[in-house]
Order: sequence, then structure tokens, then C-alpha cells
Amino acid sequence: MSADEDDNDAGEDCPLCCNPFDATDKHFRPCKCGYQICAWCWHQLMELAAKDDKVAQCPACRQDYDESSITGASSGITIPAPNAAAIAAGKAAGADGGSRKHLFNVRVIQRNLVYVVGLNVQYCREDVLRRGDLFGRFGRIVKLQVSLPKPGDFQRQGSAYVTYHRGEDAARCIKGVDGTTLDGKVLRACFGTTKYCNAFLRYQQCSNPDCLYLHDMGSDNDSFTKEEMLA
Ligand SMILES: [Zn+2]
Ligand SMILES: [Zn+2]
Ligand SMILES: [Zn+2]
Repeated sequence: MSADEDDNDAGEDCPLCCNPFDATDKHFRPCKCGYQICAWCWHQLMELAAKDDKVAQCPACRQDYDESSITGASSGITIPAPNAAAIAAGKAAGADGGSRKHLFNVRVIQRNLVYVVGLNVQYCREDVLRRGDLFGRFGRIVKLQVSLPKPGDFQRQGSAYVTYHRGEDAARCIKGVDGTTLDGKVLRACFGTTKYCNAFLRYQQCSNPDCLYLHDMGSDNDSFTKEEMLA
């Protein structure tokens, strides 16, 4: 994900999705080892592990995440609060109720984006994953972003965000990949989420032709806030 201009002063980025940490993420410590990922990626890892009735592991130290020892998730940080009701109200008021401020913290499931975990280290290269016998076989890939295994990860597993041109290809990819074994490792895949483009939120035309953030209103069913997710 390429950061919009406004995001450049945010400092650190999430090592998995490369989105800048926001106010919540900066205080979010999902693992005792201190390794930080954004709350969205953490949630996604937990969901994927739950498919195997497991708890997700920290990508850095491979300890199981202990939900009781997570800090920062609900430590009274106030975010200018969008919630489902506000989103619904905004939509009910017409196109967007005159303001899109409430959408700043909203994520929308992106039906052409696949998040996959469990990749063996030798597959953690964009040119390899794009191959016709791997993720390229499901359709045209617009963007592919790989996260290498972390230094403390002795299982040497990475992850990737794969953006397809068409949503149906992403759906076929998830069907074809989730639960399969590649080089002795079980892969897990699900749809990724994205946020609204800053230009869209300011009622401006986005000037970045490669921008992968949202420029249209997402559906209610696919939209949720960080508070809802961490609740
Ligand atoms: Zn992230
Ligand atoms: Zn850790
Ligand atoms: Zn944009």
C-alpha cells in the first residue's frame, strides 16, 4: 500500500501490511516480546488461526498470542469514534451525510485482496508468488506485497497480500489455497481489508493512479471499525 502524503509523518509502518500505525496501533502491544503489528493484521492472524482451532502466533517470536496480556487494545485511547450506527446514519442521510470524517477509522473488506500466511521462506518473493503455478494461476495480479519471516521466527514463515484485478479471482484463490499444503506448510488465506483514500475522505480527486485505497463507499456488511474489531 502506498502511503498518502498525509500519512508520511506518522512514523512507523506495520511490518505486515505496510500501512502507517495509527493512534491505536502505536499503543497496541499484542505480544510480550514487544513486536508490533497493526490491530487489523493481528485480527486477521487470529481469524486465520481460528480456522485451525488455534491461537495465532507472534510473527517475531512464534509465541502464541495471549489475549489476556495484550496491552493497548482498550486502554482508554479515544479515537474520534466512528461506529456502525454513525456509518449507517451517514448512509441513510444520502450519499454520505455531508461528511466523510466518520470513515477515517473504517476498514472495508476488499473482495479482490487475498491475505495469505504460512509461506515458506523460499516462496517469499514477489516474482515467485506471481508465477502461473502459484498465485498467478487464479487471474491477473495487480499488486503483490510480501512480508519475509522475522529474524526470531525459526519456522521461517512469511505472509503476502495479493491484489487481483477481479474479485472472482481472489475468491477462487482463497478457495484454492486455504488449507492446502505448500512445501510442508499449511497455507491459510482470507480476504484482506482496506481503508478509504484520504483524497476521497476530503472530497478530492485522487491523483495517484496506482492508489489501491477505496474511492467509493463500501457496503455496510463489509465495513467495520477498529473498536468493533477489538471488542
Ligand atoms: Zn498491518
Ligand atoms: Zn512476540
Ligand atoms: Zn486514492
